[in-house]
Amino acid sequence: MTTDFGARMTEIMKMSKKNVDLEKIKLAAREIRGGKLVVFPTETVYGIGADAFNTKACRDIFRVKNRAADNPLIVHISDFEQLDAITYVDGELREKIRRLWPNPITFILKRKKIPDVVTAGMDTVAVRMPNNRIALSLIRESHTPIAAPSANISTFPSATEAKHAIEDFNGKVSVIIDGGRSKFGIESTVIDVSRKPYRLLRPGAFEIGDAEKVLGDIIIPKEVNKTVNKAKVLSPGMKYRHYSPRKPLFLFENFRDMKAASDYLLHKNLKFAVISPEDYAHFFYKTRIITLGSIENPISISKNLFRSFRRLDIEEVDFGLISKMRLKKFDLAVRNRLEKAAGKNKVRNLKKFIESFH
Ligand code: AMP
Ligand code: MG
Repeated sequence: MTTDFGARMTEIMKMSKKNVDLEKIKLAAREIRGGKLVVFPTETVYGIGADAFNTKACRDIFRVKNRAADNPLIVHISDFEQLDAITYVDGELREKIRRLWPNPITFILKRKKIPDVVTAGMDTVAVRMPNNRIALSLIRESHTPIAAPSANISTFPSATEAKHAIEDFNGKVSVIIDGGRSKFGIESTVIDVSRKPYRLLRPGAFEIGDAEKVLGDIIIPKEVNKTVNKAKVLSPGMKYRHYSPRKPLFLFENFRDMKAASDYLLHKNLKFAVISPEDYAHFFYKTRIITLGSIENPISISKNLFRSFRRLDIEEVDFGLISKMRLKKFDLAVRNRLEKAAGKNKVRNLKKFIESFH
């Protein structure tokens, strides 16, 4: 399918990750080499990619995403030769990274030559080897590392299926590769290994405990779960509003509070939706409900999270409710996305929340 949007056309390439269509990948790779943008699937979320050595193409990513220029990009690689082209990393650390990749884990490393636009002028670069055959094949065929942030307009929820990327970028990129739904549905875990002690900069789809088994102790800074408004932060991404639906999303401390609030709002005849794991759905049978997966199966929660935020925006409701939850896996990452998505709409005091609707 090709969609004409005035001067620019976006080619939608559908393929299965089990059976990668190499001919199509080669066409997409040619666009990357020609300085164009290609949206592609990874195991975390969809990425919007450009040749990491092409300054102009990388600037285009910032422009179409409306991304702040001081928020650097993750560079995606398919082999260690590409790693050596952009970073200095050897010895023990290199072996550890080799054991951990390909996986949803991004390392901050000392940079070599790589355009300033990619690293936002920092002396480090973020690198990841994705664990998705379409992504790896695209990078390999492009013969260059691909700089790629998540394929969404900045501050809004990441794309976890091609449909979302089409909503945001049709007519603005050369190719969108549709490789089905993202396996994890949340972004990679970002760890700064450029200096010791190693630090977590963003919780994500790779468990910190599993990374520590290989890397040793990793510090979890308290800033990780806050939107820090200081100019000097550990990772530029911490400064910004992120992952948010367009409609207000109220984050509750627990399901009991959310149930009490929901009952009150129903009685007031307000139009809202509850985003809830199916385990608690029976509490909310009278309201519009958007179900995540089951708390017993954490990947079903992470996989559906951003999709539920986008769903909220198209439902005929004015706002959404969601509650914190305890997960056996992805707990820190999901909590982080909930906190950021809710922004100022955190409900710490149920009584005050209810009174605000009097
Ligand atoms: P995104 O690509 O949108 O998923 O976000 C990439 C994340 O990695 C952002 O939070 C960036 O701030 C962070 N990041 C990228 N490069 C660096 C770097 N050199 N140092 C610290 N954080 C980085
Ligand atoms: Mg992003």
